[in-house]
Amino acid sequence: MDLNKLAEALIPDENVKPLEYYEQQYPERDLPKGAQVTRLAPSPTGFMHLGNLYVALANERVAHQSGGVFYLRIEDTDEKRKVEGAVEVIHESLKYFGVKFDEGADLCGDYGPYYQRQRSEIYHAYAKELIKKGMAYPCFCTEEEIEEIRTKQTENKLLPGYYGEFAKCRNLSEEEIYANLKAGKPYVIRLKSQGNVEIKHTFRDEIKGEITVTENNQDVVILKSDGIPTYHFAHAIDDHFMRTTLVLRGEEWLSSLPIHIELFKALGFRLPKYAHNCSIQKQDGETRRKLSKRKDPEASLTFYREQGYHKTAVRTYMMTLLNSNFEEWLLKFPDKPLDEFKYTIGKMGKSGALFDILKLNDVSKTMLATLSETEMYDFMKAWADEFGSDKQKAYFADKEYMLKVLALCMGVGGKKRRKDFVCAKQATETVYYFFDDSFAPTYEYRFDKTTVKNILARFAEIYDEKDDNSAWFEKVKTVAGEYGFATDMKAYKADPAAFAGSVSDVAEMLRIATTGLANTPDLWTIMQILGKERTLARLQKAIASV
Ligand code: GLU
Repeated sequence: MDLNKLAEALIPDENVKPLEYYEQQYPERDLPKGAQVTRLAPSPTGFMHLGNLYVALANERVAHQSGGVFYLRIEDTDEKRKVEGAVEVIHESLKYFGVKFDEGADLCGDYGPYYQRQRSEIYHAYAKELIKKGMAYPCFCTEEEIEEIRTKQTENKLLPGYYGEFAKCRNLSEEEIYANLKAGKPYVIRLKSQGNVEIKHTFRDEIKGEITVTENNQDVVILKSDGIPTYHFAHAIDDHFMRTTLVLRGEEWLSSLPIHIELFKALGFRLPKYAHNCSIQKQDGETRRKLSKRKDPEASLTFYREQGYHKTAVRTYMMTLLNSNFEEWLLKFPDKPLDEFKYTIGKMGKSGALFDILKLNDVSKTMLATLSETEMYDFMKAWADEFGSDKQKAYFADKEYMLKVLALCMGVGGKKRRKDFVCAKQATETVYYFFDDSFAPTYEYRFDKTTVKNILARFAEIYDEKDDNSAWFEKVKTVAGEYGFATDMKAYKADPAAFAGSVSDVAEMLRIATTGLANTPDLWTIMQILGKERTLARLQKAIASV
C-alpha cells in the first residue's frame, strides 16, 4: 500500500510543513542546567477547581525555583466542554491567588499557539507521519460497532478497548480503505500499538516514586473524525514542542501513562519527567472522599473570592497541603515571603491531600491578624466593591470611621492582636453594628424589663463622651450600685444572693443596648467610635423597645 498517498488522502491539510520545520520553530529552550519547564493545561470549562490551584502552585514553584518557565496551555479540543469566557476565568482566578505564568494563552511566548485548537497543523503533520510509517491507520468503526465490541469483551470478561483481534480496522486492505473513503464513511485515526500488556516496566514518578507500568496495547484514537486530536496525542505533541521537562498533573491521568509513553516513543520524542499529584480530599463523616465540584462549594476557586479569603491565606494553606514540612518552616519564619520556602516535589503527599476548611480558617485568622487596619480596610473594601451589598459598600465611605472600627476589632495597639476575622465577607458582616443602616438589633436581656429600662436611662443621663475609660467605668459602677448590683466582683462572688447581679451584668445590658450583642470588643471604645449622638440614640432606642 502506498502509505504516503494514504496519509494525503486521510489528512488533506495544506498547511502541514515538513517535520524539521517544527523542530526548528520550537527549539530546545536555552535555560540553565536543571531549569524545569512546567505548565498548567486546563480545559476551558469555566470552572476552576481548588485542585487546579493546587497543581498550578506546584508547577509554578518547580519552574520558578529552578530558574525555568511556567506556561499556560488551553486544552480546548473538546468542543462540548468549552464555555465562553472560560480563559478569562482561568487567568483571573489564578491571578487573584498570585500565580504568575511566564508565557502562554493570551500572554507572550515563542512556543505557541497555546490554544490547542490553533495547533491542528502540527497534529496533522505528525499523524500523517505515523500513517506514512505504518504506525497509525484509519478506523471506520461506527459507534454501534464499538459498542458491540465492548459487549463481547464484557461477556467474555476481557479487557475493554480497541486492541488485538478486536481492532477490526487495523488490517483493512487498500481496497477496503479507499472504498470506505469513497463511500464518505467517517473515520478516526488510531495508533497501531506495538505494546504488550504482558510486559511491565518500572517507572519513576516524581511524586509517587517507583511505580510499575504495564505496556499499552490499545490502538487509541489520535485524531477524531473532525481532525481534532485526542488529549493523548495533543499532550505528546504539545509537551514535546513546548519543551516541557516535567509534566505535573492530576493522578487521574496515571492510568493513561502507558499510552503516553508509547506515543512519545512512536513520535520519536524524548519522554518528559512525570509527576502525578493526588486529588484533594475531604473528610465526610467517617469517610474521606474527593472534593467534589457538585457537592462542595469550597471545591470552586470562585468560592474563595466570593467569601473574600485573603490570597496569602489561601496560598499559605495550599502550601501546607503541598509540602508537609511547610508548617514547620512557617513557624520558624512567619514573616518571610512564602516563595522563600524551598518546595520539594518529592515531599508531596502520595495518597491524598486532606482539605480542611477549619484549618484554612485558622490560617486566615492568623494571617489577617498581621495586617494593619489600613491594609484590612483596603482588602475588605475591594471585596465589598465586588461582592458586597449596597449597605456594605457604604461602610467604606467614611474611611476614618471604618479604620477606627477595624483597629478596635483587630486589637491594633493592644497587647495581643484579636483573631476575629476569617475573610472579608465575614469581617464585613461582623462590623455591621457600627452602621445604623444595618443595625437592627433584637435585644435579649437576662434581667427584667424595669431594671433594664432604669439602668439604661440612668446611664444615658450621666454618660459623657469625654470620660476616659476609667471614668466611664466608674459611672457604670455608679449605676450598678444605685440599682443593687455589686460594684465589686469579689464581694459579688462571696455572696451573689445579696445582689441583683454584678457590674458586669450592667455592662452587658449597656452592651446589648448599644450593639445588640452580648459579646463585642471594648464597649467604652465602641461608644467613642459611635460618638455621643449615636450612642445616646441607641440607648434611647433600646429603652423604647424594652
Ligand atoms: N486538560 C487536562 C485536564 O484539564 C490536562 C491534564 C494535564 O495537565 O496534562 O485535566
